[in-house]
Order: sequence, then C-alpha cells, then structure tokens
Amino acid sequence: PARGTPILAVEAAVKRFGGLVAVNEVSFGVNAGEIVGLIGPNGAGKSTMFNLLTCTMPMTSGRVRFLDRDISGMAQRDVARLGLARTFQHVKLRPHMSLLDNVALGAHSRTRAGVVRAGLRLDRAEEQQILHEAQRQLARIGLGDRAHELAGSLPLGTQRILEIARALAADPVLLVLDEPAAGLRRKEKEELGDLLRKLRDEGVTILIVEHDMDFVMKLVDRLVVMNFGSKLVEGVPAAVRADERVQAAYLGS
Ligand code: ADP
Ligand code: MG
Repeated sequence: PARGTPILAVEAAVKRFGGLVAVNEVSFGVNAGEIVGLIGPNGAGKSTMFNLLTCTMPMTSGRVRFLDRDISGMAQRDVARLGLARTFQHVKLRPHMSLLDNVALGAHSRTRAGVVRAGLRLDRAEEQQILHEAQRQLARIGLGDRAHELAGSLPLGTQRILEIARALAADPVLLVLDEPAAGLRRKEKEELGDLLRKLRDEGVTILIVEHDMDFVMKLVDRLVVMNFGSKLVEGVPAAVRADERVQAAYLGS
C-alpha cells in the first residue's frame, strides 16, 4: 500500500474478562509507512489490545479492519497469511536451531503455514528459495555473517532482533511488536531502535506496544495512549509527552 494509506483500523474494540473491562471502546488506526506506539501504564489494556488486533484472542464487541477486510474473528494463522505479523513478548525462538533456520521457519507463516507442522517437507527448489530469503533477511538486520550460529547463544537483545527478522521473512505488510525493548540493556535498545527506524524507512509499517516511554518517544511517528482500558490521548510524541492526562496516568502507576 502507498505511504499514508490506512491499513489497520481498530473500531470500538471491547474486551471483557467477566466483570472486568480490559479494553473499553478503543478505536485507532495505522497508516502505511508509519511507526505507531501503543503505550500506557501497567494494566492499561495494551497486551489485551495487542491480542485483539492480531486475532490472538476474540473480542467481546467491535471490529478490526486490515487492508479493507474485516479480520475480527479470523484465525491468527489466516491473519498472518494476509500480512499481519506479530512477535511475542517472551522470545519464541528455537534456541537449538541456527539463526538461518529460525528465520526460514518464519517464511512459512505467510506462504504455507501447514508445512512447518508437517516437518518442512519441501522440494529442494522451494527449500533453496526459502533459505535464500532467510539469508537476505539476516543480512538486512546485520546478522548475515552469523547465520549458522545457534539462536540460543545470542544475547537477549540480538534474539529480539532475530525474532523481528523471522517475522519479516513472511514479508508482512504490518509488523506488530509486543514490548520488544523489555529486559534489554541501553545499548541493545538503541540498536533495536535503529533497526526499527531503518525498516520503517524501507517501507515496513510498525505498531509497537511498549511500556518504556523513553524508548517509544524517540522512535514513533504517532502514539496512542491507553489507561484503564480506554484510549486516553492520541498524537505526535511531543504533544503526548506534554499532555497532563498522560503525565498523571504515568505518575499514578
Ligand atoms: P497491560 O498490557 O497494559 O499491562 P493487560 O492488557 O495485560 O494490560 O491487562 C488489562 C487488564 O485486564 C488488567 O486488569 C488485567 O489484570 C486484566 N486481564 C488481562 N488478561 C486477562 C485474562 N486473561 N483474564 C482476566 N483478566 C485479564
Ligand atoms: Mg502487557
């Protein structure tokens, strides 16, 4: 999609857990070519919102549109195939496999999700094509010369970056990241931020759910702030940072 085109629209999303309203009538959108941050204090409903918009969890009411399709209620696998890629807050790499094989596995979520479970029974040409693409994605994130190291031997920050490469191997339209900076050291956060900006400049659209305010503020084009399940404020980083309601919400947490 051309830069600026709306690609994701969350419309009046609601999620109830029994009597608790974790997400309360939240609406926002993401346009092609931007990095949008979804932030808020602990318990604000960020992870629940993330799960709703990636179709990891069903909504109580509301809709999510992705590329002009209503994806509410779709299986996550099918949504991934449409080009909506997600990463996990807790790294889900295969530690005993090489970097290259980890990324190659990611290529399947878009193309032939069933093949992975079937044990990667591919013909040679297809296998070569996938490995070639995986190598290209590793080079893109600066790990091209470490393709044959084991994923489990990497420091946490590098594992996070590898997980992004795995998501990119499926050639997503939208990359949705859940707290990618959590647990990273300052230097690792900087590297991650540099990578995400580079990807954005290459045309990847990114939605990042993040608790770390400083990390997000320096990174994103636009922010959506949640508090107590509702959308509190939406805007550019400078405006959000200066907003009294946002300051109060973070101070109170
Ligand atoms: P955040 O990610 O912003 O910290 P969450 O989305 O994890 O917030 O949680 C929002 C609210 O929903 C919290 O009060 C949390 O306790 C509650 N919650 C989240 N997941 C569940 C669940 N599976 N069952 C019941 N309550 C939940
Ligand atoms: Mg969370």
